[in-house]
Parts: sequence; structure tokens; C-alpha cells
Amino acid sequence: MPSLMPHASRRTLLTTLGSASLGALLTACGATQVAQTTIAQPAIGTPAPSTPPPAPVTPSATPTPTPLRPHVLSAAERLAIEDRFRGQTPRQWGLAVKGVVTQTATTAVALTFDACGGPGGSRYDSTLIQTLRRYKVPATLFLNARWIQANPSLSAELAGDPLFEIGNHGTAHVPLSVSGQSAYGIPGTRSLAAALDEVLGNEDRVSALAGAPVPWFRPGTAYYDDITAAATSAAGLVPVNFSVNADAGATFPAWQVAAQLRTVGPGDIVISHMNQPGSGTAPGYATGLPALLDRGIRFTTLSQSGLAVPGSPA
Ligand SMILES: [Zn+2]
Repeated sequence: MPSLMPHASRRTLLTTLGSASLGALLTACGATQVAQTTIAQPAIGTPAPSTPPPAPVTPSATPTPTPLRPHVLSAAERLAIEDRFRGQTPRQWGLAVKGVVTQTATTAVALTFDACGGPGGSRYDSTLIQTLRRYKVPATLFLNARWIQANPSLSAELAGDPLFEIGNHGTAHVPLSVSGQSAYGIPGTRSLAAALDEVLGNEDRVSALAGAPVPWFRPGTAYYDDITAAATSAAGLVPVNFSVNADAGATFPAWQVAAQLRTVGPGDIVISHMNQPGSGTAPGYATGLPALLDRGIRFTTLSQSGLAVPGSPA
């Protein structure tokens, strides 16, 4: 593993991240209790009711705190990676360059959902997530740093749901290039150092949410060159893409999402988006997912999919 930073508990982090929504919840409960007390107030001279005071509120099903070990490279380890790849010229640019994982290592299917963040990209498709929960289908959620910053409570809630696993979807949501290659008109990083910044700049954040180092990475636009893919692996992460694109950046109508899902077979990694409510993605899954379950398709998170994770920077 890369050198590891100590150490806060998952519970502490979740509490911190969720403090805003928790505060709102407690305020609402308090107002309700005041109203009930007023209505039930006994007349003067009658005995006080024997109803015991309400039990103190304690969190239920609190996960066992696990040591937080943010995935942080030491300066020396990072320099070694930069030295190793310095001067190399990329030979490939795209979605499935050498070293990028596009299939699970079992017959199970891994659904992955990106939350890209930024202007127009920081919303939350609650209907889609409800569908996954309704059918108890696990998924890996690739969160961009900007989406997490815009949705801290939601991020903590999703990270705390054992159905889901958190992945790293980059810091500024840019293609991962050593030479400024563009994808979809978005300029990529211009050096290996900038590419490592894009990968590692979000790693503390997602690892804090997950309560453990997060090894799964997908860049904004999902484009790599073969050097940045190899450097991602050298940094101890797994560069992940997909074998089925179910929503084309949340641009497909529902029927097309469902049609893409019908093509899913054993071992596929499926990409879709969880940040575009109102798109065809949620209704496409609402019809497409039950059909896959009826076919006997098994679903998994990436961590449970048999894929190897680099043990240490190399
Ligand atoms: Zn994205």
C-alpha cells in the first residue's frame, strides 16, 4: 500500500459529513415533540402521567468503525512513478487502452454509476438509486470531487449503504492524458504530474467516505492514454472502464437504456450516470433491471468481482 495517513473513524467522518442534515432532522423532531407536549399537558391538579420519558436517541445499525487509511502516496513514491514514466510517449488514447479494466473477473455483472459534478452535473437521481435499493442490486458509485462537495450528506448516506461501494471519479473531471489530449471537447491533463493530481486529488475524499482506501478509479470522460492508465495502476489504483455503455452520458431515452441493458451478459461492467434526474437512465433501469434479474444475472460491486487490486505502488 502507499504510505498511509492515520486515522479517524468512519463514524466520525460520517457524522461530520452528515452534520447539516442531522441538524435539520433533530430540529424537525424537536418541533414535533413540543407540539405533542402542549396538546397532552394535564389539567392543573391531576396526577402527572406515568409515561416514562422518551429513551435517548441512539443511532441504530451503526457500522463498526474501521480505521481510516486514506490512500496517499508519499512524495518519494510519487516521484518514483513520475521518474518511471518520464519521457515515454503514449501509443493509445481511448476508453479501453492497455491496462484498463473493462470486465469483472467472474460471471457477475458490475453496475457502475458516475456522478460527474460541476455545472449541470451535481444533481442526484434519487429515482435511480431507489430502483437499485428496491431490487437490492449492488453497484459501484464513482463520485467526482465536485459532486461530493455539492452533496456531502448524500455522499455520506450512499457510502454508508452496504449495497453500494464508492469509486473515485477524479478531481476536476478531465480526461487523463500526459499531453493534453481532449475528449468530447474537454482538454485532458497536460503532464503525468497533472494526471496524478487528477487521480489522487480526490482520493482522500472518497477514502474518507468509504472508511478505507478506494482502489477504483475512472476519469472524467473515461478517457486515458496508456501511460496514465499504467501510472494509475502504479499508484495502487485500478483504472476502470466498462464493456456496456447503458446511457451514453445520460443522453439515451429510457427505451434505449433498457435496450442496452438487454445486451448485458456475464462479466460485464456497465456504465451509467446517477447525476441526471429526469433523463432516461432511471426509467430505463426500472424496466431493464427486472428483466436482467429474471434472466438470472448476478450483480456485484467491483470489490466483490474478483478483480485484483495492486498491493503497493510499483
Ligand atoms: Zn463523469
